[in-house]
Amino acid sequence: MLAAERFRRISRSLGFRLTLSYVLFFTVMLAVLGVMFRQILSSRLETNLREVLDADWSAMKGYIKIEGGKVDWDYDSKDDDERFSVERLKRIYLVADGKGKVLESSDWYNLIGVESPAEIQQLVRAGAKSQDQGIFRYKWDPETGGQVMLRGGVVFANDRIHEAYFVSIGRTFQQNNQLLRNFTRIYLALMPFMILAGSMLGWSLAGRSLRPVTDVAEAAERISGSNLGLRIPDRGAGDQLDHLIQTFNRMVARLDGSFRQIRQFSTDVSHELRTPITAIRGQLEVALFTAKNTEQYREAIENSLQDIDRLSQIVRALLLLAQSESGQIELQRSPLDLSKVVGDLIDQFQIPAEEGGVTLSVDLPQECRAEMDRVQIERLISNLVSNAIKFTPSGGSVHVRVRRDGDAVEIEVTDSGCGMEREHLSHIFDRFYRVPNEQPSPERGLGLGLSFVAWIVKAHGGTINVDSEPGRGSRFVVRLPAGRGVIPESQGAEISEHVG
Ligand code: ADP
Repeated sequence: MLAAERFRRISRSLGFRLTLSYVLFFTVMLAVLGVMFRQILSSRLETNLREVLDADWSAMKGYIKIEGGKVDWDYDSKDDDERFSVERLKRIYLVADGKGKVLESSDWYNLIGVESPAEIQQLVRAGAKSQDQGIFRYKWDPETGGQVMLRGGVVFANDRIHEAYFVSIGRTFQQNNQLLRNFTRIYLALMPFMILAGSMLGWSLAGRSLRPVTDVAEAAERISGSNLGLRIPDRGAGDQLDHLIQTFNRMVARLDGSFRQIRQFSTDVSHELRTPITAIRGQLEVALFTAKNTEQYREAIENSLQDIDRLSQIVRALLLLAQSESGQIELQRSPLDLSKVVGDLIDQFQIPAEEGGVTLSVDLPQECRAEMDRVQIERLISNLVSNAIKFTPSGGSVHVRVRRDGDAVEIEVTDSGCGMEREHLSHIFDRFYRVPNEQPSPERGLGLGLSFVAWIVKAHGGTINVDSEPGRGSRFVVRLPAGRGVIPESQGAEISEHVG
């Protein structure tokens, strides 16, 4: 049962499937190569046989003398080499005169089949034309059950052109076939070993190349919320696996960042909530133990209520932010005139601006049609403008500008206030982030306003940019798509309206 389970797991593994396809491919390749080698060997052997027959022919011409229809084999019968050569030549041979009459032929040649006189005459004519190239033919040999190769040609009696004889000698393919059979047998016997060696190599290669995948899986298993600093080392090969490792590492880094933010957020929230709670507790305790009259009790209760207000403000803001970021708050887009919305809002900010000694001015087109969520846009502008007023000392100025730019609208809030160092700009949109050591401000914010701004901009599919210089002021530029059903505005209709 266990072994079966183990086999099932292995057979499903990527390494096994890779090796299997590799082995199948390797086997087919080996078979194709075997057939190809055999074919090459066979044609090489055939060429050899032709060359041997050519050499036989030259030797034969040295031994044979034909004149007046008589064939004479002239050789030294005491010389073993010569005798052997002639005997070899005479195994498959035929001599005929120009008219096709057979003068001499070996038994073997007779068995293969002697050509008819007409055929021989035709061969003589062809032989005379081919000079000494020879006419090669293949015939079936009943003796060996295979083919024989015959080389025919014309021999002249004492170089007399009119007395031509046809001579044909042959050799069997026996030896060639034997060689080919041996080759096939050895190749087939070696094939299983080659396949086995190939499979082992394939298995180890697949294992080695899939090793990083297993590493990634193991590392992923080890990663939890507490050790997100873990990274898989890059192999430096620059291949797809390295790409996978890098992507995985980047993903973990992003997760790490998010976890850090969440931890930071929890710390910040508890800190933010603890401060007013401690204050309330302190005030109530002091009142309980030391207050002597109603006035003192009243004062303590009033102070506590202020802190409770701040507490519920934080809780409300956090709840709203959580709802908006988790997609629970849907945008209620409707056609609106952004010039009017911004104009009305700025009117409301005139009093706080005046109180802070800040000049608030606005530059709006006559009409700026857009399709947006009015409540959220008002919240966005309120946050930017209230920040600008809050962080601008008395005598400074805040300027708000709305502008149409093609299919988009641009809202720009510029102030001449305290500004910020560059390093803070990427953090001010984070929850609870407040620039440390800022100019003391009468109102301590929650550090949540710009988080809302960022969400509203994102939900509307827009962008926000901030430029700031310490001591010289800041500029927030929000760019939002105007949305559908926009009434085109007349060009150059912008008017400048300064309020306050
Ligand atoms: P807060 O409630 O503190 O204003 P925000 O999220 O609106 O929170 O802003 C985050 C921080 O960014 C602020 O505490 C302040 O340090 C900085 N900031 C925002 N707007 C301005 C500005 N116009 N000028 C200078 N600093 C700014």
